[in-house]
Amino acid sequence: MSASRHAEVAGGGLAGLTVATALAQRGWSVRLHERGSQLREIGAGIFLWENALRVLEQIGAFEQATGLGDAIESWRLFDERGRPIQDDWMKDSATRLITVKRTELHQALAEAARKAGVEIRTKSLVAGATPEGHLQMEDGEVLEADLVVGADGVYSAVRRSLGLDLVVRDLADGCMRHLVPRQPGDLSGEALEYWNGGRRVGIVPVTPDEVYIYTCCPSKDLEGRQQPFNYASWGESFPDIRHYLDRIPDESRWAAFHDVRTHSWINGRCAIVGDAATAMAPNLGQAACVAMVNGFSLATVLEQYDDVAAGLRAWEARQRGVSDATQKYSRLYGKVGTRWPRPLADVRSALIWLAGRSESWQHRVNVAAHSGADLVGPRN
Ligand SMILES: Cc1cc2nc3c(=O)[nH]c(=O)nc-3n(C[C@H](O)[C@H](O)[C@H](O)COP(=O)(O)OP(=O)(O)OC[C@H]3O[C@@H](n4cnc5c(N)ncnc54)[C@H](O)[C@@H]3O)c2cc1C
Repeated sequence: MSASRHAEVAGGGLAGLTVATALAQRGWSVRLHERGSQLREIGAGIFLWENALRVLEQIGAFEQATGLGDAIESWRLFDERGRPIQDDWMKDSATRLITVKRTELHQALAEAARKAGVEIRTKSLVAGATPEGHLQMEDGEVLEADLVVGADGVYSAVRRSLGLDLVVRDLADGCMRHLVPRQPGDLSGEALEYWNGGRRVGIVPVTPDEVYIYTCCPSKDLEGRQQPFNYASWGESFPDIRHYLDRIPDESRWAAFHDVRTHSWINGRCAIVGDAATAMAPNLGQAACVAMVNGFSLATVLEQYDDVAAGLRAWEARQRGVSDATQKYSRLYGKVGTRWPRPLADVRSALIWLAGRSESWQHRVNVAAHSGADLVGPRN
């Protein structure tokens, strides 16, 4: 393999940091561009499934990222009548699920990147890229590379400039994310999700001191997405968990869900990864996990190819199926969870309960957790 190839990476989120680290650990010189004045992550908690956990192990960030996290043994769903409609949602004993604070995960990845020798440039705004491997900066500078990676999020400038866009869609639903103090008697090792009409609330332990709560609803539910948080309206929808909702701080930001579909993830010497390529609603807790697996495998596949463009073609062929399937099931979950007609709520509960009884169905929905494990090798 030719020595010292150079990569330019746009975006310092979870995807950009993962791919940059994995490349640098395989001998590439890597420069990462983040438009913000510092590397930082917005949000509260995050679900990390088996596939992402293996990537963290491979790049040496597992301990730091998950040290304070909560190992989730069961994920339970409840309907509007308070009935449990799912007691072991998408979990089996071989599939780990750890919930962590986003800032802990992002810091662990940033530290791994620095340790691997990635040069990180902040306040560095990328304008686009060319298939020949030129990264174009907003200030007119052009940087040459053997490989350019666009990990610059949903509205990726790299993707647009390479003509890869197919559909970039606001899904007309979203959520607010909150970190609240953990109190004696709060659950550990268990994630709970409550449904009522188009509203969903998740209650997820993320550190010994904090619980992550997400409150999801359609964008048109103005009380649901109101800031400051509307305690009365949410309390009315979910009276059984008022004791959690009352802990939510006043200031909460609305995060809209997006779906990104592309003609391809590659053009010449350039690739897109993460939300730039595979954004999806976080219904399965897999968008970042898929992003991390795809970013990591990009580096491992390229290890086998001198010809970067050929390596990228092999990478996309290998990763695309699982990513597409995960996006498809995430869309389906969103339709059922958020856009289901209220008069048919009991039918929904019955369907979810039935889906939970079928191991093959659950395996299909959570295919990313399983196949990601195969892609990055056996558990350390
Ligand atoms: C409410 C919510 C909950 C979620 N929960 C989960 C979960 O539990 N599990 C899971 O796996 N996923 C979850 N996700 C999805 C996950 O957050 C995203 O898939 C993931 O953060 C995407 O990372 P990224 O690096 O691709 O993109 P981003 O996080 O968007 O990072 C892109 C980076 O690029 C920078 N950038 C953008 N444009 C430029 C430019 N032109 N030049 C330079 N830099 C640029 C940005 O500043 C940013 O730092 C959730 C998402 C939401 C909204």
